[in-house]
Amino acid sequence: MEELLSGKPQSDRMPVLFVGHGNPMNAIETNDWTRGWQDAVRGIETPKAILVISAHWLTPGKTQVTAMDAPRTIHDFGGFPDELFAQQYPAPGSPEMAEATIELVRKAHVEPDLEWGLDHGAWSVLLPMFPDADIPVYQLSIDYAASPETLFELAKDLRPLRDRGVLVIGSGNLVHNLRQMRMSGAPYDWAVEFETKMAEAIESGDPKPLVEVQKLGRIAQLAHPTYDHFLPVLYSLALRDPGEEATLFNRGIDLASVSMLSFRLG
Ligand code: ZN
Repeated sequence: MEELLSGKPQSDRMPVLFVGHGNPMNAIETNDWTRGWQDAVRGIETPKAILVISAHWLTPGKTQVTAMDAPRTIHDFGGFPDELFAQQYPAPGSPEMAEATIELVRKAHVEPDLEWGLDHGAWSVLLPMFPDADIPVYQLSIDYAASPETLFELAKDLRPLRDRGVLVIGSGNLVHNLRQMRMSGAPYDWAVEFETKMAEAIESGDPKPLVEVQKLGRIAQLAHPTYDHFLPVLYSLALRDPGEEATLFNRGIDLASVSMLSFRLG
């Protein structure tokens, strides 16, 4: 009875993920990163749907949500082996949850989209995590003209999705400088330092250092010459309950300048 009165018990809430996706080859490789992703969802209740906010869907001036029945797999990269281009992630879409999401977001006008699909920020992490591709997946775009503060506030409107069985995944990288990337050699000091700052802020529960990332100045510019791969983390953090612990995983720098740091809330 008490449960009826107080609504759904806390344990029914879906966790929230932020995943550092990095190299698209992770989609088809088995390595420490992909094992970390798999561990992060092991034992959770099967989501009714998965909503991904990916660094690779930027829509300056507007926010869109995929609303098609069958999103296509987008191979939005170049210079990779045919095997990667041959990969498909044939998960169904969720026009119903897209509609529900449009209704939930009050701080922006969200438009339904029937063109996009699943970019590699979404499918390259979902393939190792949920290889059966039987859970409906939809994406929300990032208004790339909006400030981090604005996007963080907008994302708070998505909170009720956790109670509706939707697994929300922000997919980007907490350090992402492809110009400085190198195939071998130690991570750059600034990459390690910036990742450490981010890890500390995420563990502390205070989103401010992330929302106000640009205040970090030079080190933030080195870590993110552009902010596309940073912004998805704000969506994950906005769904955090007060005092909710973050479980960090996949800490480490790949390719000298790409942080794979990921976390789970709940
Ligand atoms: Zn990426």
